[in-house]
Amino acid sequence: MLTNAEPVVPDLPVRGHAHEVRLDDTFDFLNTDDTDNGFPLERLPTLDSALAWFVDRGVIHLEGADRLRAQAAADPEFAARDLARVHAVRSALWEVADAIAEHRPPKPGALDTVNRALHARQVIELVPAADGCVSVDHRHVGDPIDDALARLTDPLVTELTSGHPERIKICDNERCRWVFYDASRTGRRRWCDMSTCGNRAKAARHRARRGQGAVEGDSAFDGQPAIS
Ligand SMILES: [Zn+2]
Repeated sequence: MLTNAEPVVPDLPVRGHAHEVRLDDTFDFLNTDDTDNGFPLERLPTLDSALAWFVDRGVIHLEGADRLRAQAAADPEFAARDLARVHAVRSALWEVADAIAEHRPPKPGALDTVNRALHARQVIELVPAADGCVSVDHRHVGDPIDDALARLTDPLVTELTSGHPERIKICDNERCRWVFYDASRTGRRRWCDMSTCGNRAKAARHRARRGQGAVEGDSAFDGQPAIS
């Protein structure tokens, strides 16, 4: 299931290998801790799958991922530690996003974990661009997973400092709980996707009302437009 949120940040040309990461990527990362009909569904169950996801989103170079795979093959404990790190940062980031959505303080441990991830960010530099202008690049000096996690954290920081954190939401469907960005006009969207979670909620309410003998229009449907 994909969110149908409008892109938060317009598509920008990727210059150099600066790995433009958008808030949608961050939320997609959080939503890899998924559910299927209410049952937990881990979409990054192995270090290999996590590395493939990072490469796909451009936050780790293929060469870096291959190096980590080779290390993991030589030492399974290494793989387990790295995977645990990915899951821990994802879980802490989800807690922070949930806290933002719920207007509550996050658990202190979550902030510590997210801040540690931010500190691991690789060095950003300005470099001459191929088109004769200036581009942004980074030096590969640290651990690629640390850097990937820091990059995936960045858009949330940007949204908090200069965006619309009030539009960060958690899907109201208890069986979903995806993080999404509410790009609706009214800013009152409650579901990650109207065509799935929203309609499911609406149908459940209709069923409940019919059970109570009421068949009137769905006026209590939260003023939500049927689109998002
Ligand atoms: Zn949902």
